[in-house]
Amino acid sequence: MTRTHNFNAGPAVLPLPVLQKAQSELLDFEGTGMSVMELSHRSKAFESVLARAEQGIRELMNVPENYTILFLQGGASLQFSMLPMNLALPNKPVDVFNTGVWSKKAIAELKKGTPYTVVASSEDKNFSYIPDWKTATLNPDASYVHVTSNNTIFGTQWTEFPETGDVPLVVDMSSDILSRPLDISKFGVIYAGAQKNIGPSGVTLVIIRKDLVERASTSLPTMLQYRTHVAENSLYNTPPTFGIYMIALVTEWIKSLGGLDVLTQQNREKAALLYDEIDSNPAFYSPTEKSARSLMNVVFRITGDNETLENKFVKEAEAANLVGLKGHRSVGGLRASIYNALPKSSVEALVSFMRDFAAKNGL
Ligand code: PMP
Repeated sequence: MTRTHNFNAGPAVLPLPVLQKAQSELLDFEGTGMSVMELSHRSKAFESVLARAEQGIRELMNVPENYTILFLQGGASLQFSMLPMNLALPNKPVDVFNTGVWSKKAIAELKKGTPYTVVASSEDKNFSYIPDWKTATLNPDASYVHVTSNNTIFGTQWTEFPETGDVPLVVDMSSDILSRPLDISKFGVIYAGAQKNIGPSGVTLVIIRKDLVERASTSLPTMLQYRTHVAENSLYNTPPTFGIYMIALVTEWIKSLGGLDVLTQQNREKAALLYDEIDSNPAFYSPTEKSARSLMNVVFRITGDNETLENKFVKEAEAANLVGLKGHRSVGGLRASIYNALPKSSVEALVSFMRDFAAKNGL
């Protein structure tokens, strides 16, 4: 068996020990004589899987008791709609930071009827930096403040979140959740599609402060109210059972490594290896501001923005077992997603491929 060096942005690489564990339990999960996918979501066996996933997230992220952990469907994209529906209060516009394609998608849903203010944007420089929140004018009476913590497509990441006082800070952490320790009490809501750092696609993790759950009108569609899912512990309807199981396994894998402190160290080392090569090899450059560089999605270009050469790079990399290196279709160039589960050896293989490519092409 050959495992590919998988730089996909999401769905993305999963930890090998997690896949092996899932494989070993596939036909007979804990003596039930069936796979997790075949269990009733109301069974004791599945209840314990759900509890493991929740407990795993709670322990790793140190989630306080006044927050509920939900496993929903509809992707992070549905949260772009559910958040304003549930949290926007009359005459209290939402404050939003525009730092890339995903922020813009969140804004597009606000546009459909929720008053909002873009308090800062990095669009003037093609989203190559993170705006300084300290110079933004935040409304102390806003319904909430929305931030995208890691911009998957442009390769930028917030290192320090805005201080929002009593206004809840709502953060889309789809592409950097579980990559570093954070003080959860600073956030009102954290949400993330699972398919980058927590598990397979099909599950969306939502961590919500309990008092915020009650903001929404009870006349909203039942499935779109957080309170429905809180009241039923993510079991109002049939949840994505296999995805939740995989989250349980991924959190247990992270715990076995030593938790988020260890991961953040590993992530820093992996990112440094790659950025060092990009900065020191004249064949490549990074279009992002140094202080804003993402540790999860490393965006880079071939000097001169030569698209023919970039396409050649992607094709030859694939032939060398390095996949997923094409930049997002909206920005072009190259991108290596180096999430938690990507081994350091894959980054080393990429760096070595970059050197060979530059030499062979006289760059
Ligand atoms: N936000 C961010 C930061 C993302 O990277 C993505 C997906 N790439 C999304 C939201 C959308 O997630 P989903 O496909 O789960 O709706």
